[in-house]
Amino acid sequence: MEILGLFFSFIFGLCVGSFLNVCIYRLPSDLSLIKPDSFCPRCHTPIRWYHNVPVLSYIFLKGKCAYCGEKISLEYLAIELVTGILTTVFFYKWNHSPLWLASVLLASYILIVVSVIDFKTMLISDLFSYSLGIVGILSSQINPNFSGDWYQRLLYSISGIISGAGFIWFLAFIGKIIYKKDAVGDGDMFLLGAIGSFMGYRGLFSVIIIASFAGSLYGITLILAKKADRLSYMPFGPFLSVGCIVNLYYFWDFINFISY
Ligand SMILES: [Zn+2]
Repeated sequence: MEILGLFFSFIFGLCVGSFLNVCIYRLPSDLSLIKPDSFCPRCHTPIRWYHNVPVLSYIFLKGKCAYCGEKISLEYLAIELVTGILTTVFFYKWNHSPLWLASVLLASYILIVVSVIDFKTMLISDLFSYSLGIVGILSSQINPNFSGDWYQRLLYSISGIISGAGFIWFLAFIGKIIYKKDAVGDGDMFLLGAIGSFMGYRGLFSVIIIASFAGSLYGITLILAKKADRLSYMPFGPFLSVGCIVNLYYFWDFINFISY
């Protein structure tokens, strides 16, 4: 039964990933999500449903448009696979708590869209952060990392929002003094606030540690590959998202960790 559950959650995740691709492609340019149907960006031929099956179509069409032969970016396949794998991993971890599982999945789907759009455009739409924050506040009542009465759980979630947004605000303040320009965006502030609604202030420490580590690794790689220099602007949203997703799987309470 477990295997069947994992299998179906993977298929479900692939289909969601396919929809996330549509969101990532259309939302930044204000296109409607529902109509028209997906079309090839080059020849504008509508894509038929049997050419739009996650992963399988990509393999059968050898990564090309069925009509004009335009290459389909590997990014679409990667996003479907990442969404499928994350869905399976979270189903495995949280299937005993369906409402929390749904909240975690919703959060990861929002974070995937935010991260890819941030990578491409360096922008984080506040609408995503607000939605994420609302899911975080509502799910505080079933969040396994929080405890106590309903108002204690609620306050804990809000403490995360305030410390997350406050931390980025402080970074921006310091950054402005050192670099004399905006080093961190408002988008990052709302995003880490929203992530805080799931983490509380204690969980935020590990999110920031993971994000800084992953971000530095990425930055150093770019500098070594001579694709960037020390002052290039780098998106921070994807790394905050990685930190959050890791903690949604295994909550790393850094304060508890250092007090041992
Ligand atoms: Zn085409």
